Amino acid sequence: MLKVILKKGKEVSLLRKHPWVFSGAIGSTEGVLSDGCTVQVYSHQQKLLGSGHFQNSSIAVRLLTFDNTNINQEFWNQRIQDAYEFRLRCGLAENGETNCYRLVFGESDGLPGLIMDFYNGTIVFQAHSIGMHLNRNAILEALIKTFGNRLKAVYDKSKESLPGNYADSIKNSFLMGDGNEDRVTEHGNRFYVNWTSGQKSGFFLDQRENRKLLTSYVKGKKVLNAFCYTGGFSVYAGNAGAELIHSVDSSAKAMELTEKNISLNGISGHEGFCADVFDFLKSRSLDYDVVILDPPAFAKHRDAKHKAVIGYKNLNALALKKMKRGSILFTFSCTQVVDRQLFINTISSAAIEAGREVRVLHYLHQPCDHPVNLMHPESEYLKGLVLYVVK
Ligand code: SAH
Repeated sequence: MLKVILKKGKEVSLLRKHPWVFSGAIGSTEGVLSDGCTVQVYSHQQKLLGSGHFQNSSIAVRLLTFDNTNINQEFWNQRIQDAYEFRLRCGLAENGETNCYRLVFGESDGLPGLIMDFYNGTIVFQAHSIGMHLNRNAILEALIKTFGNRLKAVYDKSKESLPGNYADSIKNSFLMGDGNEDRVTEHGNRFYVNWTSGQKSGFFLDQRENRKLLTSYVKGKKVLNAFCYTGGFSVYAGNAGAELIHSVDSSAKAMELTEKNISLNGISGHEGFCADVFDFLKSRSLDYDVVILDPPAFAKHRDAKHKAVIGYKNLNALALKKMKRGSILFTFSCTQVVDRQLFINTISSAAIEAGREVRVLHYLHQPCDHPVNLMHPESEYLKGLVLYVVK
């Protein structure tokens, strides 16, 4: 068995069930460790702490178990079945109104390094660790066991999520079945999802509940959806009776997808703009009742945190300056490095800079198929505020 033995005292976070071992915590190793191999992790006092996937990187081991369970087919079957049953328990799996959801959210499902999204029978598999990618066939077998003939295809889209050299040696490809696109429904709203050409796994499933909340504020109203991607918020607004919807994204492909989804739902009163949101906000009067700002992660790493904060502050100040009295702002951050309190403080600074008085109507979050593992606070990333512009 391959072993990693920690330095003295470095077992503490693992005893609290945080599933990462950083490279600096390793005292010694036994056997020849290669990227993606399964190792047992021991404390300095030779106590077994668990097993996980090794990788030559700053996160050196991602723990799959905190005991002596073997990582075999039975292990994969059980974890995938558990993930499915959890979504069933949350009312997402086998739901007539919603047939797309995140099936596995990494560390929060006891499967660090693995993301899998379910789109009406097609699963998009994204390995964020080499160990997960090397185990893709065992994971596929587990998926077949859990879903049986409800599983149409499994698409491995790990090329973008794995590190350099390894990624160069692989291709995105179907592990089972085929088909690039399908139609899905989310709370009864219809969308095309293309997992082979789309961003991430093809759709931003994490905004499902926040899109639903939007519907209670838009009937007969004018809505601006900035950073719209495939038009998630726009379609919900249209189906909920918004009078006018403007969608903006700098990607021409995203605007094409938005238009396609708007037609799929037979929505009128929509106009799309392929533009930079900052330019759009600067150049127009913001005569909207509801504005949505859902920008991309302004920072992916801790060292870009300051830049991200400035980005959120400028963006929100720009919108708040021009929004009318009595209008509502849905504003988000999907950057894990900017935590909830920092995001709130940043939006507060934006309101001060804009000279506006605002009230918080809702604090928003990621949905239950992206649960936060309290032992792994890094799994919390999506934050949002719904603000009422008083004056
Ligand atoms: N709200 C979307 C997800 C947004 S993802 C949903 O519910 O599905 C972020 C989007 O911002 C991407 O589509 C990206 O193309 C777009 N984007 C990034 N920078 C931009 C900019 N400066 N101006 C306009 N769009 C931008």
